[in-house]
Amino acid sequence: METLPSLSGVAGRLAAIRARMASAATRAGRDPSAVALVAVSKFHPASSVLEAIQAGQHVFGENRVQEAAAKFPPLQAATPAVQLHLIGGLQTNKAREAVRLASMIESLDRPALADALDRAAQAEGRLPDLLIEVNTGDEPQKYGVPREEADSFIRACRQRFGANVRGLMCIPPADADPVPHFALLRAMAHTHGLSVLSMGMSADFEQAIAQGATHVRVGSAIFGTRPASA
Ligand SMILES: *Cc1c(COP(=O)(O)O)cnc(C)c1O
Repeated sequence: METLPSLSGVAGRLAAIRARMASAATRAGRDPSAVALVAVSKFHPASSVLEAIQAGQHVFGENRVQEAAAKFPPLQAATPAVQLHLIGGLQTNKAREAVRLASMIESLDRPALADALDRAAQAEGRLPDLLIEVNTGDEPQKYGVPREEADSFIRACRQRFGANVRGLMCIPPADADPVPHFALLRAMAHTHGLSVLSMGMSADFEQAIAQGATHVRVGSAIFGTRPASA
């Protein structure tokens, strides 16, 4: 009888990622329970998310508010422990819906968005946890606060949102060694006394864990490749 989980299904791939996360943490001398998995389900149907929920996964990442709003409320009604992280660039006109839906917004990256989230939080009477996204590669086409402005933006956000500002997030340039970017993010978080570091995706989450990631955002390695429109 075959006793290993199938490596082809969502549950099997989740188990494999969790095992790789745990050994990366152990190799780095870290407690595996200090690294959380954000399963990035963007472009994948609710049925795939449900498979992951049935395999014990509760924290999911989506990068579009509309898609998250269509997919998650029914799943959360059935399984209240399900939490949504919004990880994509966020338009100010989506702030209110984002505040309604998310347990964490990982992409706070500019003063206009901070204003919009502040207004949305007043209106909704709730404020999600927040991460500040830093454009560690200073790539012009990317979301994230530029490196130069990061320190003052982080200070201003903490003044405004207090302890809801939990930490930092980055997406290193696609063609670069991610390790210096992870190390830079860790140093910035340390400077500001912030504890959450969201960094590492399917291709580099083990390196991110070695550099101190507390949250890794893994999509395709769990759910398979996304449609070309992704
Ligand atoms: C899509 C996405 C991920 C997951 O990427 P994979 O390479 O599929 O693991 C992580 N973070 C962000 C911000 C994303 O948009």
